[in-house]
Amino acid sequence: MSVRPTMTRFPLNPAEQEACGVPWGMTVAPFAAMDENGIAPVYGSNGELLPRCENCWAYFNTYCQLDQWSWDCSLCGTTNGLSTQSIAQYSLPNSCAENISSFIDLELPQEGSEEMKARPVYVAAVDLSSSEEFLELTKSALLAALEALGPGSLFGLATFSHKIGLYDVQGPIPVVKNVFIHPESLENLTVELEDVMPLFSFLAPVDTCKDLIASALETLKPTTSWERTTAAGQGVDGVLLGGRGFGVAMESLLKYLGSEYGNTYALVRTSNSSPFCFSLWWNAARVFAFLSGPPDYGLGQLDTRRYGEQYASKGEDADRALLPEQTPFYRDLAAVAVQAGVCVDLFAVTNEYTDLASLKFLSIESGGSLFLYSSTDDSTLPQDMYRMLSRPYAFNCVLRVRTSSEFKIDHSYGHFFPDPEYENVQHIICCDSFATYAYDFDFLTEVGFSLHSKERPTLQIAFQYSVVVPPNELSVSSSGTSRRDTYSLQRRLRIRTVQFEAARNINEIYDTVDPEVILSILFHEVNSNFRKVVVAIYTYAFCKLGSDRRDCVCVLSTSAWLSYNQIFGFDLPYRGVILSSLEQGIREARVLLHEWLVNLVAQYNDAFKLVEHGRGSLTTSRVDVAFSQCPQLQSLPRLIFALLRNPLLRFHEEGVHPDYRIYLQCLFSALEPSSLSRAIYPSLVSYESPEKQAFPRHSLSRAALLTSGSPIFFLDAFTMLIVFYSSTADASLPFPPPQDCLLRRSINKLKQERSITPKLIFIRGGKDDATVFENYLIEEQDVEGSGFNSVMGFVSFLDEINQDVLEYINKPNGK
Ligand SMILES: [Zn+2]
Repeated sequence: MSVRPTMTRFPLNPAEQEACGVPWGMTVAPFAAMDENGIAPVYGSNGELLPRCENCWAYFNTYCQLDQWSWDCSLCGTTNGLSTQSIAQYSLPNSCAENISSFIDLELPQEGSEEMKARPVYVAAVDLSSSEEFLELTKSALLAALEALGPGSLFGLATFSHKIGLYDVQGPIPVVKNVFIHPESLENLTVELEDVMPLFSFLAPVDTCKDLIASALETLKPTTSWERTTAAGQGVDGVLLGGRGFGVAMESLLKYLGSEYGNTYALVRTSNSSPFCFSLWWNAARVFAFLSGPPDYGLGQLDTRRYGEQYASKGEDADRALLPEQTPFYRDLAAVAVQAGVCVDLFAVTNEYTDLASLKFLSIESGGSLFLYSSTDDSTLPQDMYRMLSRPYAFNCVLRVRTSSEFKIDHSYGHFFPDPEYENVQHIICCDSFATYAYDFDFLTEVGFSLHSKERPTLQIAFQYSVVVPPNELSVSSSGTSRRDTYSLQRRLRIRTVQFEAARNINEIYDTVDPEVILSILFHEVNSNFRKVVVAIYTYAFCKLGSDRRDCVCVLSTSAWLSYNQIFGFDLPYRGVILSSLEQGIREARVLLHEWLVNLVAQYNDAFKLVEHGRGSLTTSRVDVAFSQCPQLQSLPRLIFALLRNPLLRFHEEGVHPDYRIYLQCLFSALEPSSLSRAIYPSLVSYESPEKQAFPRHSLSRAALLTSGSPIFFLDAFTMLIVFYSSTADASLPFPPPQDCLLRRSINKLKQERSITPKLIFIRGGKDDATVFENYLIEEQDVEGSGFNSVMGFVSFLDEINQDVLEYINKPNGK
């Protein structure tokens, strides 16, 4: 579990928090094997016996004051009694995990039977309203998946189009049973899938049925247009319906799987030839949904004409209109999935407008991933699938963050499902070691922290989860074969308690910030919900350096004065924060980011006394935009510039496909801070030769490339890796770089460590088209558009920030 705060010295009180202009929050990767310093948890057992505070329910930890018969909670200070058993145990030094480390992983007792075996359930739902190429790609992805699935897994194959197909592969030949979806009906299917095919026939053990599943995959064929039109009846206005009944198919599949969720039961199948029996117990299943276009049939169909209408430009803001979901159907379906313990991974292989803005909720809220591949040709789908399934993951997780009593969690961000009843409790059906969640904090009262008290700002993160534990290696080697039933299911409780310090002044805050985490929090604030973007602009700049309250009200009235009060329910002057929300588009998000940076620069210049005020005006025309006094802040202007240049926040007119934008939003919002900052501002390394590095870091500018004089560059943009040979590179340098060189080894290492499969491209400058590479050289690009201009780019962006900061500070009614 890695925990990264935006600063290790927390602001002392609300005034300080606003004055510093830096978001106060953290990122947490709960299932990461190590903490942020590379230290593993101390393992233990009897998690259910770990003492808890009777006041705040925090768990006992190493920061608690321990007496012979009692302990003081490190979060709220309450004194709690110890049980006789704990008294005996805690009297011995290092007797248990919770006495040794503040990062522990404890086993919990199994629910249900002792003999329980892990039976992970996987279901593929394949779109047949598609092409041969799409099905070929899907087949190879599923074959890769079968290779990656652990022993004991159960696999089910379903298809959808204008009908739903369920496969029974366990007999001598695969049998498919179809149910037709009614095109007009507002109801779901007239029959339950359980009545069409019992679950035990549908879910086949991968160990024994791998070949049978593979041959069933071979029989998949796209539905013919004749079939579809016959089923659908008349098309609207002579336009044929596509017949992709995705909504109904997913809804009925989730109910089908959910019917036995959490039950321990034996499935007995007796066919004439081979009596077959297995017991099934699962508390999480994964559905892989392969989609070749928008759902356009039956319940949950999406109207893709809105995209066409935007292109026809009816004076509406496309960047605003295409962001919200057009129906709550898939968000509601995600709730059904979570209830059923099912996580949905969505693989869209299409270049058609599919409205991922509506579909995304089904995957991200159920803890799944969303993948978009614009073509079947260079798709990394099979590799991504294999990679995703071969790494360990936790399932059926509950994540809870507790804070010491001076502060609280304000917002939480990430791919989870919030508990409908308890605050700050998140359900995550499926979570791998990369999955990262973000939080921002707020003070509970005006008092804040105390510098003199020994009670320090404290956080405790509790993560309860299940894992499949591999068989004991000894028993495998002794018997010579691996037995599938040696895999077992384990429930665990992982707890991390972290203490911080309060900063004595703003400079201390600035000295301990982590720019990557700041970028993460800003990213989430801007992107978590475009429809209801909640971004804080700290009004300290307005109040202290510039305008009066009227300006604040002015800003609010252009966004959402009402919603601000409705959502947050406190007075603006008291809190001093403007939160604008509702109906925000790309344009607003960009303005808010820009203003955030302007404010930070103003605060920093004020804190370091870099600007001098004359009579109501400044005596200087320049402020320190580069944060020259504070190395920790120096990368921020570049990161903000790059975020503004990212397709995520670029305008529709610049040719950013709305589905691609949503895909990036989903991908980025689960990344840990270092990966996110690499995706936003790629790293650029130069090489003298494939075997020798020249410079480890270049800024993303053409000028930097030219002046460096290096022949080879390697760019890592997280989803894309580019090796670029400059046009002046010596012809004797081998191209592409040979397999066993330093450059290749670094590339392979990066590929291995990454959550997705990055695309690798080799380009020779002067010979190949270098546009892909050059597009990443953003620093000469105009922040507001794609045009190249020698006077624009990053330098003029800084000039603009400089001007805006001066304007703020110079407001005539300033103090
Ligand atoms: Zn407590």
